[in-house]
Amino acid sequence: MKILVVNAGSSSLKYQLFDMDTNEVLAKGLCERIGIDGIVTHKCPGKADYKADVDFPNHRAAIECVLSLLTDKEKGVIASVEEISAVGHRFAHGGEKLKKSAILGDQELAYLESIVGLNPLHGPPAISGLKACKEVMPSVNHVGVFDTSYYSDMEDYAYIYPIPYELYEKHKIRRYGFHGTSHRYVAGKAAEMLGNKDAKIITCHLGNGSSITATVNGKAVDTSMGFTPQDGVPMGTRSGAIDPTVVTFIQKAEGLTAEEADKVLNKEAGLLGISGISSDCRDICNAAAEGNYRAALALKILVHNIKKIIGSYVAEMNGVDAVVFTAGIGENDRQIREDVCKDMSFLGIEIDEAFNQSCKRGEFADITAKGAKVKTYVIPTNEEYMIALDTQNLTK
Ligand code: ADP
Repeated sequence: MKILVVNAGSSSLKYQLFDMDTNEVLAKGLCERIGIDGIVTHKCPGKADYKADVDFPNHRAAIECVLSLLTDKEKGVIASVEEISAVGHRFAHGGEKLKKSAILGDQELAYLESIVGLNPLHGPPAISGLKACKEVMPSVNHVGVFDTSYYSDMEDYAYIYPIPYELYEKHKIRRYGFHGTSHRYVAGKAAEMLGNKDAKIITCHLGNGSSITATVNGKAVDTSMGFTPQDGVPMGTRSGAIDPTVVTFIQKAEGLTAEEADKVLNKEAGLLGISGISSDCRDICNAAAEGNYRAALALKILVHNIKKIIGSYVAEMNGVDAVVFTAGIGENDRQIREDVCKDMSFLGIEIDEAFNQSCKRGEFADITAKGAKVKTYVIPTNEEYMIALDTQNLTK
């Protein structure tokens, strides 16, 4: 069974074609600058990478280009589009109703359109991508996999904010959580490694956007991102959690509109805002190594906040069996892992620092120190595979 996974952003469309019988990625690529001009990058194992300028006025043109590349005699991997059994679509937000991955019929599409207000950045392009794919591939099922759905079993006291309850009822303001597909994947892998499906696991997805999730018995019980991906640990350009009054104070003090204040906290804060150098952790690490005070401070603030959240989740779950690091920083930045795990022996978290520094980047590693009570793993995330798997399970 071959499944195409599509992740549509406002000006980009990422794709991967999976052969689910062999668990292989047959091809993957990226259409960029949709609505501007257009570039496609297409990769198939064993073939030369292909990159070209193509005019992408909209998502439909992009998906048409993807299908023609997948079926191309030289660059392609399938003889015809009919070989694609189903398409899995990544959605950041499934609202309160789409609690699980689902085949997207008219009703589900109408619901997704009704909640774009909750998800103004990711919702509209993901819907455009879905509509374009449905037009071009009308005879197969299209499945939506939602970042939020991993959190749909959280207790009400974990997702209701301590604000007037009517605001939840009226506007659905609550903790939704994001990156759920990644947390579900790596928490599942960790449970497999532990040989314990009931395990208490803390997964740290540390990338350009970062979130931390507590999982018990395969279900998320809490997560650091909230109503939007803005909450939790500091990120590349997002502040993460701050005193909410800072927002209205900035507006008044700097004479900003609500949108401008939002931009400051979403695009100009986090590692970029503190360091004044870059949102990319590698640049910050290099600057800190050269003695830059604000770069070093940005890293200390990041580590401090990750530790605080891990500690709070241990308290919430009354223990932890494994801590997992994943995504760009989690999989690659050995120093951040070491700094986060330092002085956590009280909680049973201790890593083998030498092995942590020498283990291969981006590969699975058990970096637990000998005799430590809690396992610490590095697990490369694979959201696309999870989307393909859900799509297969719903459509086979
Ligand atoms: P996104 O949220 O865009 O998917 P990623 O998961 O790709 O982000 O993570 C991007 C972050 O990972 C960047 O801050 C980048 O600096 C960091 N990163 C990637 N590779 C390395 C590396 N080798 N060492 C340290 N940090 C890295």
